[in-house]
Amino acid sequence: MASSLLQEARQRAEQAGLNLFGLVRAERFDACQPCDRRVQQLRAGCGTVVVLGTGGRQFWQRFRAQTDGPDGAAHGESPAMVADRFARRLAHDLSHWLAAQGVAGSVVEPGPRTPVRFSCLGESAGLGVVSPVTGHLLHPEFGPWIALRALLLLDGEPFGPITNASIAHRFQPCCGCSRPCVTACAPRVYDGNGQQDLLRCATHRDAGNCETGCNTRLACPVGAEHRDGPDEHAHRHTQPLAQLRRTAGLGMWRFVPRSWRV
Ligand code: SF4
Ligand code: SF4
Repeated sequence: MASSLLQEARQRAEQAGLNLFGLVRAERFDACQPCDRRVQQLRAGCGTVVVLGTGGRQFWQRFRAQTDGPDGAAHGESPAMVADRFARRLAHDLSHWLAAQGVAGSVVEPGPRTPVRFSCLGESAGLGVVSPVTGHLLHPEFGPWIALRALLLLDGEPFGPITNASIAHRFQPCCGCSRPCVTACAPRVYDGNGQQDLLRCATHRDAGNCETGCNTRLACPVGAEHRDGPDEHAHRHTQPLAQLRRTAGLGMWRFVPRSWRV
């Protein structure tokens, strides 16, 4: 039975708009990760990882209702960055509330400099399975239309012992699927056998293609009814392009050494 602290934390996250909430025992996760991708690298003494995310359209609708929406962007910020900043604030609010309950921890945000694999943590937390075809985290209800927003790394096990929540043994949507996600992508970023060439994606998008969304995601039948609305999909799509340009060394980034681009 969930502790009352866990129940309240879950409820607070849900009410704030973070409708995906999962727990991972840090020691179990680290045991199957390379040394440089372990949770302990980020917070020594971390026993519990809270994985916070959003699934479906609810978060975007709440974001638009509670803030100035994308129009509230500061200079140089893409609309997706404003939404991410909004989500980070919710994660920090939850962290502060836990601290007030005596639970020490820290917030980790996704990004190219964050070494832990968010999708693997999402899978361990039972929030979906990592597709062996695209590498996207697929949620049983929302499919690829989810976003992992932040991790809370908590000292010890304040919610009590954490059981293995993975659903990978019983949810395998890619098995037997005809893989429309592969053929939907014109430059064939995914080869269908688990390999991907993100440089192809970056080059294709840098040339002005896929401006309004990703056909690979749109083609996946899992959770199709929860697809982003057109404005959210376009907005969410803008930030990864900036990241892709940077990591792929496109545009002005071609003048920057690789080691400075990650
Ligand atoms: S389209 Fe099929 S193979 Fe591709 S990610 Fe979705 S379920 Fe998996
Ligand atoms: S954004 Fe376009 S090029 Fe990139 S994976 Fe999606 S469909 Fe392929």
